[in-house]
Amino acid sequence: MLVKRRLRLEIQGTVQGVGFRPFVYQLATALNLFGWVNNSTAGVTIEVEGGRSPLNLFLEKLQAELPPNAKIDALKYQYLELIGYNNFEIHASQTGEKIAIVLPDLATCSECIAEIFDPQNRRYQYPFTNCTHCGPRYSIIETLPYDRSLTSMADFSMCADCQREYEDPGDRRFHAQPNACPICGPKLEFLSHCQGQENTNQSPLEAAIQYIRDGKIVALKGLGGFQLLVDARNNKAVQQLRGRKQRPDKPFAVMYPDLPSIKNDCFLSQLEEAFLTSQASPTVLLQKKKEFNLAENVAPHNPNLGVMLPYTPLHHLLLKSLNFPVIATSGNRSDEPICIDETEALERLKNIADGFLIHNRRILRPVDDSVVRVMNNTPIILRRSRGYAPEPLTLKRTLSKNVLAMGAHLKNTVAIAQKNRLFLSQHIGDLSNQLTLQAMTKTLQKLSQIYDFQPDIIACDLHPDYLSTQYAKNLAQKLNISLISVQHHHAHIYACMAEHQLESPLLGVAWDGTGYGEDGTIWGGEFFWVTKQSCERIAHFKPFPLPGGDRASREPRRSALGLLSQLYDLQVLKKLNLPTIQAFSATELELLLSMLKKDINTPFTSSVGRLFDGVASLLDLRQRESFEGQAAMALEFSIDGLQIPDFYQFQYTKNDSILEIDSRGIFQGIIQDLQNDLPKNFIAAKFHNTLVEIIFDIYLHTLKLGFNSRKNIVLAGGCFQNKYLLEQTIQKLESSGANIYYPQKFPPNDGAIALGQVMVVTGQAI
Ligand SMILES: [Zn+2]
Ligand SMILES: [Zn+2]
Repeated sequence: MLVKRRLRLEIQGTVQGVGFRPFVYQLATALNLFGWVNNSTAGVTIEVEGGRSPLNLFLEKLQAELPPNAKIDALKYQYLELIGYNNFEIHASQTGEKIAIVLPDLATCSECIAEIFDPQNRRYQYPFTNCTHCGPRYSIIETLPYDRSLTSMADFSMCADCQREYEDPGDRRFHAQPNACPICGPKLEFLSHCQGQENTNQSPLEAAIQYIRDGKIVALKGLGGFQLLVDARNNKAVQQLRGRKQRPDKPFAVMYPDLPSIKNDCFLSQLEEAFLTSQASPTVLLQKKKEFNLAENVAPHNPNLGVMLPYTPLHHLLLKSLNFPVIATSGNRSDEPICIDETEALERLKNIADGFLIHNRRILRPVDDSVVRVMNNTPIILRRSRGYAPEPLTLKRTLSKNVLAMGAHLKNTVAIAQKNRLFLSQHIGDLSNQLTLQAMTKTLQKLSQIYDFQPDIIACDLHPDYLSTQYAKNLAQKLNISLISVQHHHAHIYACMAEHQLESPLLGVAWDGTGYGEDGTIWGGEFFWVTKQSCERIAHFKPFPLPGGDRASREPRRSALGLLSQLYDLQVLKKLNLPTIQAFSATELELLLSMLKKDINTPFTSSVGRLFDGVASLLDLRQRESFEGQAAMALEFSIDGLQIPDFYQFQYTKNDSILEIDSRGIFQGIIQDLQNDLPKNFIAAKFHNTLVEIIFDIYLHTLKLGFNSRKNIVLAGGCFQNKYLLEQTIQKLESSGANIYYPQKFPPNDGAIALGQVMVVTGQAI
C-alpha cells in the first residue's frame, strides 16, 4: 500500500512577485500532490501531501526549475501527520515577521513586448502590460506581503479577462499582482502648456511623439519617477534642455530604440550588451565611436555616453515609433530629487517641460535609473537604484541589534540592517537642500515600514554640520538609542570588505574628493591598515591649503593655488606665468593670497580628488566646475589612449609613525614639464602613473613591515571610478601577486557609505 505523507516547507529568498506560487501550483498539480501554498511575510509556505517518490520529486524540481527571477536563500522542511487535502490551493497571505524580499522593478520581458506589438492581442499598444516575469515591483509596493491590495495597483480592479488570467494556474499572469489591460488598468494622459490648441484626435502617446519630433521637451511619468525626453540628434533642443535645467555640461543619458542603433554610435562589448539587456536594464557607460551621430552637446567633451534601452512597455512604444535616440534624464531641477507625482511634476518642471505624458498609476517611491560602467572587464555599479535596489546583502554573521545608517552627504543612500540582512536604499541624491533631505527621510521611513524595522543603533557621518548628522542626532534622542559617528573613509573600506566578505587584516586605500577626518581636517587620500581591532591611518597625502574651503571643490583653480602656495613665496606666486594664475582677476588673486597668508577660511586637505583638480587647473583643462568630478574626468579623458611608463618623483615625510606623501615634488615636475612644452596628455598620464606608483610603493611598505602576509588590498572611493587609474593600479599590483578588491555591486563612490557605516558599527558595537 502507498504510504502518504504531509510535507511542510518554509522558504526564504526572492520568492514573492516572481511567479513562485503559480510555479509551485503547477508543479504540485503535475505531480498529483494536494495541499496549499501561500505568501507569508517571511517568504513562502507550502504544504503538500502525497507518496514518497512524488514528494521527493517535488522537492528536487522545486529547487531545480525555479522561475527566472526567483532565488531560494533558505529552505526548511519537515514531515507531518496527514491531514487529507483533496486539491491544491493558493491561500490568502499571512502576516508575521517581515523577512521576505521586495523585488526591484523588472524590465519588460520578451513575451510582453511581443504582445504590445501584436495587433491581434488584447494588449496591443497597452503601455502598462506586465506579467509575473516583469513589470513594476519596488516602485509600487507599499509594504509586504506582496499582494495587489498593498500596492498602488489597489486603485484598479481587474476586469473579467484579467481576473481569469490571474486565477488560471496555466497563465503567465497567474497571480501577477500588477496585472492590467486597456479595459481595467492605468491610462495615459497628455498635458501641454498650450491647452486647447492640441490636435484632439491624437492619442496621448501620439501627442508626446509629435512633441519630441518637433524638438520639444516632454516630461514622462516613467517607472520610478519622471524623466525628461528630448530628441538626442537635435542640438537646439538639447541646448534648450540644458538651459532650462541649468545643467550646462553634465552628460545626459540616452535611450536608444534597439541594440543596432547603439552600435552605430558606440563600441559595445558582450559584457556591456549583457548588462544593457538585463532585467535591471541600467544605463551603461559606453565609449563613443568617431562617427558619432548624436548632437555634440548630449555629452560634451566626453569620450563616453550613458546608454540605455527601453525598459517599460511605454518606452518601447515611444521609441519604436520615434525610431531615433532620445535623451532620458531624471525629471528634476538641478540638485533636487526626481519627481514621482504629477501634481508635483507640473509645478516643479513647469519651466522645463513643454508637455507632460502622465498616467494614473501612483509611484510610491522615487527610483532613478541605475548606472553601470565596465572597468577592468568587470561591471561596476556607479549608481545603484532601479533594477538593483532594494536587493539585500547577506551578512556573514547575524546581528544582535538593528542598525540604521544615514549615509554620506553627496550621492546619499541609507541602509537598514537586521539579523543577517542589510538593505541599502536606492540612490537619493545630494543632501544639499530641504527637498532631498525630505526624500531621504521618506525613503528611510518607507524602507523601515516594509520590514517592520526599528533601529537599536544609528550610524552617521563624523561631520558635525551635515544635515544627515543633525537628523540622526534628533532621531537618536527621540528614540533614546545610541548614535555612533563613522569616519567617511573607514566606511568606504568597510563597504567594499562587506561586498566581498573580506576578513582583516588588509591594506585599505580610500581616495576621493572629501570626507571629514578624525583630526578635523578634510581627508581624501588615505591608506589604512585594517585589523579586527582597528582601522589605522598609516599613510596619507601631505595636507595642503584650500583657500575658500567648500568653494574650492567647485573651482579647481583654488586647489591649484593652494598647492602652488606650498612651492612658492606668495609674492613670486602671483607673477607666475601659469593658466591657474591667469584664471583669476587681480582682485580675486589678492583676496585668496591674503586668505592663504592669514590662514582665514583655508582648511587643509589630503584629498586626492583635489590633487586631480589642481593638475586639471595647471593644464588649463578646467578652472571651474559645473558638476562634481568634472575636472578629474577631464584629466582622465585628456590621456586619450597614451601609454607611457613615466611618473613623477615623490617623497615621504614621517609624522609620528604615519607616512606623509609629499606632493610638492610631483607639482614641481608638472610645472617643469609645462615649461618644457610637453603635451597635456603626456603630463596627465605621467600624473596618473605617479598615483599608481604611490599605491604600489605603500603596498610594498606593508609587505616589508611584515604585516600584510595575505597580500590583500582594497581600493575604494570616488577616485576609482577613473578607468585609467583603476586598471593601471590593478595591473601594477597584480604583477606582484596582490589580491585586489574593489567595489562592484555597490558604488565605489559615496553611494555605498551607508553600507560601510553599518559594517563599522557592527564591528565595534555588536
Ligand atoms: Zn512580462
Ligand atoms: Zn483587464
